[in-house]
Parts: sequence; structure tokens; C-alpha cells
Amino acid sequence: MADIRIQRVRKVFNNTVVAVNDVDLHIQDQEFLVLLGPSGCGKTTLLRCIAGLEDVTSGRIFIGERDVTYLPPRQRRIAMVFQSYAVFPHMTVFENIAFGLRMQKAPQHVVDERVHEAARLMHIEELLERYPAQLSGGQRQRVAVARAIAVQSDVLLMDEPLSNLDALLRLEMRAELKRLFNRLQTTVVYVTHDQVEAMSMGDRITVMNAGRLIQLDKPTRVYDYPATKFVGGFIGNPPMNFLRVHLTDDQRAASIGDVQIPIPDEVRRALHGDRVEIGIRAENIEVTTERKEHWLPAEVAVVEPLGSHNLLTVECGGHLLKVNVPADLSLSPGMTIWLRFVPEKVRWFDSESGQ
Ligand code: ADP
Ligand code: MG
Repeated sequence: MADIRIQRVRKVFNNTVVAVNDVDLHIQDQEFLVLLGPSGCGKTTLLRCIAGLEDVTSGRIFIGERDVTYLPPRQRRIAMVFQSYAVFPHMTVFENIAFGLRMQKAPQHVVDERVHEAARLMHIEELLERYPAQLSGGQRQRVAVARAIAVQSDVLLMDEPLSNLDALLRLEMRAELKRLFNRLQTTVVYVTHDQVEAMSMGDRITVMNAGRLIQLDKPTRVYDYPATKFVGGFIGNPPMNFLRVHLTDDQRAASIGDVQIPIPDEVRRALHGDRVEIGIRAENIEVTTERKEHWLPAEVAVVEPLGSHNLLTVECGGHLLKVNVPADLSLSPGMTIWLRFVPEKVRWFDSESGQ
């Protein structure tokens, strides 16, 4: 059993930089949890606190039943893959993978068995006698992951392990790691700033911003129901569209031009004041080239063919919106089109809620 409980963990550097700001987080046993957020939001620091590479300023960390807050890294029974995936240049691939096991003083037959097993899982068995200088970046990355899985720890921490690989390799490794960790019975905390990686790999995603956890949910929930504008803007490509809207006098709808969008009751109760913004994703805006009553007129500004579909940038009532349309819909800049926001896909935000 290796769930991870993080209780009000705070990390302040030099008495000034609050890198992790009172984070509470319960990571389930054998879960693949992704920590996602922009550069500088505290992901690496939180991971290093779990690993014991940073002391927490306050708060506690439990791995399984053990309070590890003040244990040195070695006693926490975790493995970690770093962003720089440091492999030792003077050691063969075999010895690199064996490193953690040697530290644990594992007997030679265990080292042999575990190294071959890890190398097989990472498809680098034929490279065991080579040195890192004789490997490609992708192969070196595989060595780093193999070294981490060879120790068979209950918890594996990975800090942007794919960020130094080129796009195609990243795509391949993403699927491979996901398949691998479905099979290994390990609790994984995986840090990335890449929202596509997070969506595709995580059982759950935790979105961080400025040292805080903003939302913790399944990928589709985070995508469909972002808790804040920050989350809606950070997740999705293109980001969610936001429009400031006026509420009608009875506060039961928002109006954009002469189009009214009814506000669900539970949403209305949660909104404060009348500074409201709606969020709508590019694929949830319907488009027609014929004028329709109660659809919003818009002017096409940019058409970007993306193969599977076209991405439009349109001007609509003073807003620039991103809209996905089928590739065969022939549109060009300057044309007038009409838009409809799919009502059940509209999300509502208080304008004041910055994060
Ligand atoms: P992320 O991994 O999300 O990019 P980090 O955890 O590396 O973010 O950094 C979070 C914040 O803490 C940043 O403002 C960073 O400059 C600061 N920080 C990280 N490590 C140190 C350190 N050793 N000393 C001082 N400030 C640090
Ligand atoms: Mg980092």
C-alpha cells in the first residue's frame, strides 16, 4: 500500500519565495497522478518535497502508513526520474540501470534479473553493454526510466521526463510509459507543463498555479468543467474562449448582442455580482454561413487548415474567438458567418476570479 498524503505542505525559499503554498493532496495507491502547471508554479519543488530532496517549511507527508516528513530520501522507498535524466557517462547502460540496486546492496543475481527485466520493459536490452555517449537522446531517456523502475519502489516520481525529446519521440514514449505503468503496480506522480501529456497519461490531473492546487479531477472533467478561467485557459488547444457578458435584468440569462443564453439555476446561485464571463471551447461553437435568427454574427479573421479540421479566428461582438470547423467548409477571411454556442457546453465564471 503506497498512497501518498500531503498535508498542508508549504515550501518557502529564502524566507520570500512561496514555491508551494499549503498544498493538500491525497494520491491513491497505484494511481498515475499528473501535476500540471506553467513553469515556475511549484511542480518540481512539490515533487522534491515528496522525494525528501527539499525540507518542507511546514506540513506533513505520508507514504502509506509512514510519516516520511523528516526521513532522508534513501529511506522513503521512492524512485525518481529527473528532467535532465542524468545518466552516468562512465558507466555502461547495465551499470546505469543497476545503480539504485547497487546502492541497496542487492545481491548480484537480483541485480541481473531486475536490470534485464527493466531493460526489456523499456526495449533497450540490446544496449546494455554500451556507454551513454553511444546512445541517442531517446535511448538515454529509456535508460533513466529503466533505472527508476529497476528498484521496484512503491512510488515513482517523474519530473518532465519527456521534455528533452523531440515531438515525435515524445508522442511514442507517452503511449509507451502509459502502457507500462498500467501494468506495474506503482504509484506514479508525473510532473509536466504539457497539457496534452497530462490529458493523455493521467488517471487524474492536478492543476497548479502559483504554488497552489487549483483543481484535482479526471482529465475529461478538468477539460469539460474547468474550475477557474486559469484552468480553462491552460488546458486545451486552443485554450477555452472567454467572453464578458451582461446579465439580463432578471439575472436569468446573459446577453451577447440580441442573443440570450439562459443561466442554469445552480450556476446563478454561485455567481457573485454581475461581472460574469462565459467560457466556450472551439469545438462547441456551431457555425453556419447563412443568417439565422438568434445566432451571433461574426467575421472570419484567420483560417488555419489543420488537416483533420480548420481552426478559425473570428471577430464576434468585439471578441476574438477560436472556432473549429470541418475541413471541407470553405471560408475565407472577411466573410460573415453565424455562430451558436452549444448551451450545455457553456461554462460560467466570475470575472473577478483570476486564478
Ligand atoms: P516548476 O517546476 O513548476 O517550474 P519550481 O518548483 O521549479 O517550478 O519553482 C517554483 C518557484 O520556486 C519558482 O519561483 C522558483 O524560482 C522558486 N525556486 C525553486 N527552487 C528554488 C531554490 N532552490 N531557491 C530559491 N527559489 C527556488
Ligand atoms: Mg520544474
